[in-house]
Amino acid sequence: MKRETIAVHGGFDSDPTTKAVAVPIYQTAAYSFDSAEHGAALFNLEVPGYRYSRISNPTTDVLEQRVTELEGGIGALCVSSGQTALFYAAMNALEMGRNLVSVPQLYGTTYTLFAHILPKMGIEVRFAKSDRPADLEALIDENTRAIFCETVGNPAGNVCDLEALAALAHRHRMPLIVDNTVATPMLVRPIDYGADVIVHSLTKFMGGHGTTLGGIIVDCGRFPWIAHAARYPMFTEPDESYHGLVYTDHFGASAFIGRCRSVYQRTVGAVLSPMNAFLLLQGIETVALRVDRHVDNARKVAEFLRDDARVESVNFAGFPDNPYHALVQKYLGGRACSLMTFEIRGGLPAGMRFYNALKLFKRLVNLGDAKSLACHPASTTHRQMSPEEQLAAGVGPGSIRLSVGIEHIDDILADLDQALGAAL
Ligand SMILES: *Cc1c(COP(=O)(O)O)cnc(C)c1O
Repeated sequence: MKRETIAVHGGFDSDPTTKAVAVPIYQTAAYSFDSAEHGAALFNLEVPGYRYSRISNPTTDVLEQRVTELEGGIGALCVSSGQTALFYAAMNALEMGRNLVSVPQLYGTTYTLFAHILPKMGIEVRFAKSDRPADLEALIDENTRAIFCETVGNPAGNVCDLEALAALAHRHRMPLIVDNTVATPMLVRPIDYGADVIVHSLTKFMGGHGTTLGGIIVDCGRFPWIAHAARYPMFTEPDESYHGLVYTDHFGASAFIGRCRSVYQRTVGAVLSPMNAFLLLQGIETVALRVDRHVDNARKVAEFLRDDARVESVNFAGFPDNPYHALVQKYLGGRACSLMTFEIRGGLPAGMRFYNALKLFKRLVNLGDAKSLACHPASTTHRQMSPEEQLAAGVGPGSIRLSVGIEHIDDILADLDQALGAAL
């Protein structure tokens, strides 16, 4: 089925017991066993079924299945937020003493996780000079165990060369982990270009309405853990925390996601609630329509800003003179995302006046909501960084980041026009 159809139907037909056509919200912590033997078989992972909603839940299952199909993977794990998805994915691939090589253009909190939190656990993250594969390759050594990128960097708007990064990772016998939050599988499926693990903040375009936090990790099922067993023993050797389970034996091709659930979700427990899984499923039903409108509106906004003398520069990957234009054509079908940054003439003070004058655009730090949103990264999402780190992440002192919503384009442009007028 096409992605537009999967977004509506993936993972669910109708409820087997009641025939309900909406996905039921299984608001339960636990599930009863038929017998002591049945309970034991469930705990031994010998029979399919549910034990406790920290491990799995029928409502959440539907969301996992739907996003798995949208991304073209073989299995997924839902978690409470995008940040948890990133943390679990990294912890699952890396152990103490190993390192991760990452592109520098990252979501602000991801940068903090990589630069400050993982190192405290003995996992070093090395940030490349740029997103060019050669700059990442220069940092790889015998302890590197994964490469990380965002398909489309937030807020830099850079588009990563997924095929080249996957080839680089595989040449060095390691997986490519991709955050596909900003692009969504509606614009690109990184797995089609060789990515091994996909993470998402479902909070953004997937849920789409700014109501619900959620995250997901999707396993493509192709990385040869057994062939590289000496490098990734956690998948191929008995796990004492799970009475000697060997993940590649038990889960086969889905060893990565199986271990994520059995180790991190079971013992850390940053669970997505069934209610939130339901809300995210509602949002995903319309993701194809919304992304189309977001992308169309964004192009019109970018052209409006580019042609306006009050604007200094617009960073929009959809323009032919943008360095990422060719990658937008290759990976996003020519449809640059609805995230862009621009600099107003008059620098920081004018940027602040513009920001304060917005009426339709909400001043906040979210993105991917149906509503148009504006953010001043230097004072909010990226303020933990030094000015040099901010510039490397694509954030100038007066940059305004827009997440263009699905309202009527006339109203969006009118708001930008009046705010520019108030600023200058
Ligand atoms: C928002 C975001 C995250 C974090 O997701 P939460 O659901 O807010 O925890 C991670 N990566 C990207 C690209 C994001 O935009």
